[in-house]
Amino acid sequence: MARSGFELPKRAMAIFAHPDDAEFGCSATVALFAEMGVHMIYCLLTSGNKGTHDLEMPPDKLAQIREEEQRTAGAVLGVKDFVFLRHDDGELEVSMAMRGEVSKAIRDCKPDLVFTQDPWRPYQIHPDHRVAGWSAMDGVIAARDHLFFPEQLRDGLTHHRVPRVLLFGTAEPNIWFDVSRTMEKKIEALRAHVSQIRNPGIYDRMRAWAAMTGRAWGIDSAEGFRYLELG
Ligand SMILES: [Zn+2]
Repeated sequence: MARSGFELPKRAMAIFAHPDDAEFGCSATVALFAEMGVHMIYCLLTSGNKGTHDLEMPPDKLAQIREEEQRTAGAVLGVKDFVFLRHDDGELEVSMAMRGEVSKAIRDCKPDLVFTQDPWRPYQIHPDHRVAGWSAMDGVIAARDHLFFPEQLRDGLTHHRVPRVLLFGTAEPNIWFDVSRTMEKKIEALRAHVSQIRNPGIYDRMRAWAAMTGRAWGIDSAEGFRYLELG
């Protein structure tokens, strides 16, 4: 299934572990959606406050730098809003508290589609990436029923159903988007993560990956996802 025939959401939220995860995993599609009028929101579970080899860099300063980098990258892509949950990098755990925070972000922002990291991907070794995917999925389910986290609904906030999910970083894609026209926005957004990108060869690797993904469909560049329609 390619992009044709896919009904665009009005609002979409990408939920992920670290600044730059979405740029690597789904940003050409994020840019495509934004260009087509989708209100894009980013929700980050951490601000990447341990992602450095610099022995002099304090974690709080690093988090500030990386949030700025994320805002710059998001601006390139057309992301309108950012939610920073500011948990510690590398220490995410699947918990009711985390599920509640994600549920709250979904109820606040009311996306009708969620992008997140595929928690079912085999051999996903980064614990934060697993937790982000599980928490996003569990948060989607919690957000839709009023008796889940009812304390969130006391001040006029309403429960919210997200009917569709796109999982990125997946081993089993079942939908592909033609991102030929936004691929260079993805590269520019990746470049915004100055504190993280040491090897400029990564840009050509990302172009080559998108080209390889698109080849089966006869398109120049593609991003693939596991697409879920929730009942
Ligand atoms: Zn990451």
